[in-house]
Amino acid sequence: MTPRIPLLASALALAFAACSQSPAPTQTAATPPAAPAPAEAAPTTAPDAATSVDPRPSPGASTPAVVSDCATTITSNDAMQYSADLIGVPAGCTTFTIHLEHVGTLPVGAMGHNVVIARQADMGAIAADGMTAAPDHLKAGDSRVIAHSAMIGGGGATSVSFDVARIRDGGPYAFFCSFPGHLALMQGRLQVE
Ligand code: ZN
Repeated sequence: MTPRIPLLASALALAFAACSQSPAPTQTAATPPAAPAPAEAAPTTAPDAATSVDPRPSPGASTPAVVSDCATTITSNDAMQYSADLIGVPAGCTTFTIHLEHVGTLPVGAMGHNVVIARQADMGAIAADGMTAAPDHLKAGDSRVIAHSAMIGGGGATSVSFDVARIRDGGPYAFFCSFPGHLALMQGRLQVE
């Protein structure tokens, strides 16, 4: 039985050799047209996908209040926040009014909010001097205060009006809450535009 195996193997080898020789010329002829294929794979790595992710509002972006008829309404809450940090006063206005609503639930003694109008540079000193002056938390007769509303608690509302001529020059001006500790979060720019 064993002597037949080499014979079969050689017979198969001849058969494979015959088969592999005949297709060989057609394979070499077919390869040149297929060569450009690897070049098409390169553009699939899209470089513009990474650049389109970046555009988003920056953390320092302003939230302007909606102004109409020389007045605006802003809200405040139990998280020590105003709803806007920029109030643009139309240059044509003589008097401007800011309405303040407190949409929280905490009482005025714990989470009081008001609106004080002053030069931005005076905010810190005004708040510091009014620290112990409850309930308005403003020093009596503070000449640096251009105007201010009442101090309100959750569910309350108040308003303050002021002469626009007072904030046309010598700014920048600001609005802020003088309740102790609130100035850092509750302040915004007030500008004639
Ligand atoms: Zn406040």
